[in-house]
Amino acid sequence: MSDIRLKEISLDAILELVEARDPGQIAFRQAVHEVMESIIPFIRENKKYNNTGLIERIIEPERMIMFRVPWEDKDGNYRVNRGYRVQFNSALGPYKGGLRFHPSVNLSIIKFLAFEQIFKNSLTGLNLGAGKGGSDFDPKEKTEAEMIRFCQSFISELYRHISSEKDIPAGDIGVGEKEIGYIYGQYKRLTSRFTGVITGKGVEYGGSTVRPQATGFGLLYFVEEMLHHHGESMENKSVVISGSGNVAQYACEKALEKGTRVIAMSDSNGFIHDKDGITKEKLDFIKELKKERHNRIQQYAEKFGCDYSEGKPWGLKCDIALPCATQNELHETDAQNLIENGVLCVAEGANMPCTDAAIKLFQKSKVFYAPGKASNAGGVAVSGMEMSQNARRLSWTYEEVDKKLLEVMKSIHQKCVQFGTNGEQINYMKGANIAGFIKVADAMIAQGYV
Ligand code: NDP
Repeated sequence: MSDIRLKEISLDAILELVEARDPGQIAFRQAVHEVMESIIPFIRENKKYNNTGLIERIIEPERMIMFRVPWEDKDGNYRVNRGYRVQFNSALGPYKGGLRFHPSVNLSIIKFLAFEQIFKNSLTGLNLGAGKGGSDFDPKEKTEAEMIRFCQSFISELYRHISSEKDIPAGDIGVGEKEIGYIYGQYKRLTSRFTGVITGKGVEYGGSTVRPQATGFGLLYFVEEMLHHHGESMENKSVVISGSGNVAQYACEKALEKGTRVIAMSDSNGFIHDKDGITKEKLDFIKELKKERHNRIQQYAEKFGCDYSEGKPWGLKCDIALPCATQNELHETDAQNLIENGVLCVAEGANMPCTDAAIKLFQKSKVFYAPGKASNAGGVAVSGMEMSQNARRLSWTYEEVDKKLLEVMKSIHQKCVQFGTNGEQINYMKGANIAGFIKVADAMIAQGYV
């Protein structure tokens, strides 16, 4: 094992190294593939970055923490889950990235998310390093008391590895404002410190306005920029959104504000197809519904009398598709269906929701495709703003934060255009990866290849 090293900068050599170091980490390998494929030609053309040592470092986390999370369920049984925090890269600032509670969580998933976070956080223009964490704990069907016990146990181990200067977690799948509150409360008990160590907090105790909305709103700001850049507008476009959690809800809200017609949302069981369009009132029903973890989107169809089907919504005809649920939820056949149905734009609210084959099809068919690291960066950007407000004991208004969010999303779009333009077409994946890479690589080189 000790002889494993990168012999040359080629996609095959890099993926071979990843596989040799950590066999079978499929999601992590996919994320490395996606980034490296688009930046290798750039690296080869730029002597400064054409260095195997730099690439070896960038694909290896600085630190990986794995720990036992014991907790007691409602029947008095002792249960054990596994906790993770991958502190991937601190070249640009303290580690920053969410916590995910979902039964599918494993080291490969957390590594892929943390790796993507490097480039995403770099794109925001803020001084944020990259990390991600979570547990294979399933929040569905859990009582509130079980959630509190689990969150307290989780942070009782993790607290020693994080601080407002070192590593600042936030939410992700299964970790919303409620869970952040439980985690923060226990952190405070353990340390006696009221600091900005976690973002996504309630506004009344140090959270930022617009943080709950940030990822979904930011996604739509990005989509609007993308369409305007190509001489198109949002008005009257039909939109299909997957998921019905935090990102999906606020993507829907902003899409409605922009004059589009949202016709579908989903959960892990199925999707609703509302031909009349989801209204603000109907969206409020979804927001209420989803406050209870076990509620299903099918209940929307029962209430409003629209269609419900099992599976994914990608067979529906729409102008804009927004995958906002989870990784690898949109496959090549789904992409084919969307293209045949005339989709104009696909923008990722989730992390890595489109498979590599699906992305290639979109690009080949000249669909405007936005990778999550660019289009869903609004969440981490506002988390960065929450850190600034906490450090300075300030609270910015909703309008101030929303304006800053819009500026960040416009600037990310601009970077994608700058580095991704190829003749008539813009390869947003390439643009995002190269722009994100340059800043991190420069900082790593300046700091002595640490
Ligand atoms: P939530 O837990 O609030 O919602 C997740 C949604 O996705 C739910 O509707 C859930 O359905 C659905 N879902 C989860 N797993 C699956 C699956 N395996 N198959 C189909 N549907 C699934 O999470 P968020 O909205 O916060 O996160 C969604 C995505 O956005 C994730 O990829 C996350 O990494 C990404 N993201 C989130 C950010 C944030 O600020 N929250 C920031 C940037 C990216 P069900 O209820 O049935 O499980």
